Amino acid sequence: MINYKSYLIFLFGSLAVSIGLQMILPWPFGLMAALAIFIVFPLFLRNRALKRMGGGFGGDPGGSGGGFFGQSQGVKYICLTCNNKYKGGACPRCGSKMKRADF
Ligand SMILES: [Zn+2]
Repeated sequence: MINYKSYLIFLFGSLAVSIGLQMILPWPFGLMAALAIFIVFPLFLRNRALKRMGGGFGGDPGGSGGGFFGQSQGVKYICLTCNNKYKGGACPRCGSKMKRADF
């Protein structure tokens, strides 16, 4: 994975390299080389990171979801006597069966 710090290091490093390229190469070639570094190098880094993780698409940091829908399964009730949220038949806090569904 490419974390934020290594990305910044890469950004400033490639910026320095691209500035150096502008000085070494004439104008259109220096710009093209710098663009190529900015485009190709992140792809290269990502491919290498994916290979290190054994390939596949498991590198998405947003893939840890799913808990929201899992929690919303099953009806919850709110006790009318003590306002306690619970599941099941009777309120575990006060034993009252007066309840309403909570969505
Ligand atoms: Zn209650």
